[in-house]
Amino acid sequence: MSSRSWSCSISSKGEKVWKTTLPPDYERSYTFQTLCLPGLPSSAHGGLGWDGSTPISCLVNKSHLDALLAALPPTFCVIPQALSPIREEDQLHEVRKTKIKGEGLFATRSIEEGQLILWEHPAIILPSTDREFNKEIYEDLGKAVASASDKELNTRWLRRQAEATKMANEYEGDGGCDTWIEGVVRTNAIVLDLIEGPKMQQSKKKPPQHDKDGQKEIYGGIYPLINRANHSCAPNASVKWDRSTLSASLYALRDIEEGEEIFKTYVNPLLPRAIRLKTLNKNYKFLCDCAHCNLEGKLAVSSNEVALVAESDANRELLATWIFTQPTYKKWSTDLCRADNLFIKSHMDALALIEKEGVYALQAIFIEELAMAHAMLGDLEGFKKWGERVRKLNRVEDPELSRRFQDWLVYPEKRVRRWGWRKRMKEESNGRNAKGIGDVDIGLIFEPIDSESEED
Ligand SMILES: [Zn+2]
Repeated sequence: MSSRSWSCSISSKGEKVWKTTLPPDYERSYTFQTLCLPGLPSSAHGGLGWDGSTPISCLVNKSHLDALLAALPPTFCVIPQALSPIREEDQLHEVRKTKIKGEGLFATRSIEEGQLILWEHPAIILPSTDREFNKEIYEDLGKAVASASDKELNTRWLRRQAEATKMANEYEGDGGCDTWIEGVVRTNAIVLDLIEGPKMQQSKKKPPQHDKDGQKEIYGGIYPLINRANHSCAPNASVKWDRSTLSASLYALRDIEEGEEIFKTYVNPLLPRAIRLKTLNKNYKFLCDCAHCNLEGKLAVSSNEVALVAESDANRELLATWIFTQPTYKKWSTDLCRADNLFIKSHMDALALIEKEGVYALQAIFIEELAMAHAMLGDLEGFKKWGERVRKLNRVEDPELSRRFQDWLVYPEKRVRRWGWRKRMKEESNGRNAKGIGDVDIGLIFEPIDSESEED
């Protein structure tokens, strides 16, 4: 069994520096494994059953296997409410040909914002695409996958393997990949942070778990159906990965119409267009033709498009900072000097910009703030409108938040903490002024609503 030796030295700044020498057979310490993951909702039996378990294939570094297994629930897993089984005839998605991009994922019926579109386990787990493996490693995995199929892997896997092979074929011709499985990984892997970073790094006994480039070991998962979703810089869906089941959920970021193509994003959509295109071309060998990149049906920017691209880039840059600098309802609700409508308007402006650029993944935070601002104003209609959107939008992304709003919406005036707080404080303040108390330091009267989570 191969192992790495670590040595520690002290740098000129007095910091500990770990160095490792890799054994010559380091890459060989990646071995093929079959893991049985907790069951997926089954479409058999009228959608009421659960598959006992799903075997998947992994190429894992032996030294990480324990950490990987430790992350899995030992005997069962609790399936979140949002992930209840979807019957075959109720399926929301289908794979079909697109006009120019090969296959894509399409909505077979209208899908609500926040709704789960599909949920699946990885068919293969492989080390990160950044690692330069030699051809033999991938050949070994390809052989192992092929030979294991009869004995160890079920029909679900075979179907997935066929899907995976199809995806790999699409990569052929771009060069750089010697084996089908490497092609699959390079085009389709979703990053899986299998190794719990902080725990490992906090451990004083062990040296940090770094690979030869000094990076934490990263794995990629191949999710055959989710991987069918094409890229857009205005994605209408997003993926959430769950470490405890290794499953990935694809869910809607906005309402999607029946027949509409389902897109996720392969790059940070807030980056400028030129960087997005460069990254996509480098990593995935294509140029984006979404409406925000391909303005007049071609990829080069013409002179009359320069302003449009600059505006879109500026909007996205503004949104990237806005999510960190936006005022919070907690500060606003105690600051009676600030007008009610300024806070609301600022958040509505952000939502309008998000809609214009199609970057719907950003809207949840603004919508939650709007709901809470209406709660602080004691505005029942406003709270119901925005609160219902928080509940819907977070069903997959943040089920706990979604359930909390579901509970609050039953009886907001009683269940939302400090309902109507700002309204009451304003009334009291007006009363005081009318009685001639005069100017009062608001900071002395109104303690922060939630001092422990209040920033600065
Ligand atoms: Zn684009």
